[in-house]
Amino acid sequence: GLDVNWAIRWLTLSAQAMAEHRMELIELDRPIGDSDHGENMDRGFKAVMVKLAESPPESAGAAMKLTAMTLMSKVGGAAGPLYGTAFLRAGTALGDTVDVDAAALAAALLAARDGIVARGKAESGDKTMVDAWTPAVDAAAGAAEDGDVRAVLLAAAEAAEAGAVSTDPMLARKGRASYLGERSIGHRDPGAVSSALILRAAAGAVE
Ligand code: ADP
Ligand code: MG
Ligand code: MG
Repeated sequence: GLDVNWAIRWLTLSAQAMAEHRMELIELDRPIGDSDHGENMDRGFKAVMVKLAESPPESAGAAMKLTAMTLMSKVGGAAGPLYGTAFLRAGTALGDTVDVDAAALAAALLAARDGIVARGKAESGDKTMVDAWTPAVDAAAGAAEDGDVRAVLLAAAEAAEAGAVSTDPMLARKGRASYLGERSIGHRDPGAVSSALILRAAAGAVE
């Protein structure tokens, strides 16, 4: 199963991905937003790295909760509370389990998605990060039947990446992009892309 060291590797790889893809996320947020998503996510995950060093967590769940608090206070905008809620729900789902199995992992991903939906009220097809998360949790649930945590995360990452691409033709119905109406069509949702990067990092963190 997965332990706290996996969680720390995940968050570290996520921080690296946000730094590496900072400009790409800024460019995606330009035509349908306010060009700050890459900056928001990079700032948030850099702060997560500082917090992890200051107060090392003892379980994956505790790492998720620390991440939630940090993202809520540092990311700002729409994405801060949404990712904050996602990591908080995931952390609560995991509790202080020291060895997370495939079923618990899939349940935590589902809890994260449900948190995003509870907070932002977006449905599938609204051109938001939900369009990455929902296919990811569905794929994770299917893969969890075999009991392999790596397979769960690889399935989730792949589905999230396809989900991000699927936002291209969608008309935005939530968030800043929705102000553009029809003009939001033909652009990829930045939050769906950052979600796919974070889920890919989760898979990459499995040893
Ligand atoms: P802001 O729009 O406040 O500048 P960001 O640019 O950091 O915040 O994040 C924008 C992303 O947030 C969008 O690409 C989208 O994925 C996500 N988002 C916005 N509103 C919602 C919502 N109601 N539900 C789910 N996701 C949302
Ligand atoms: Mg923005
Ligand atoms: Mg903004």
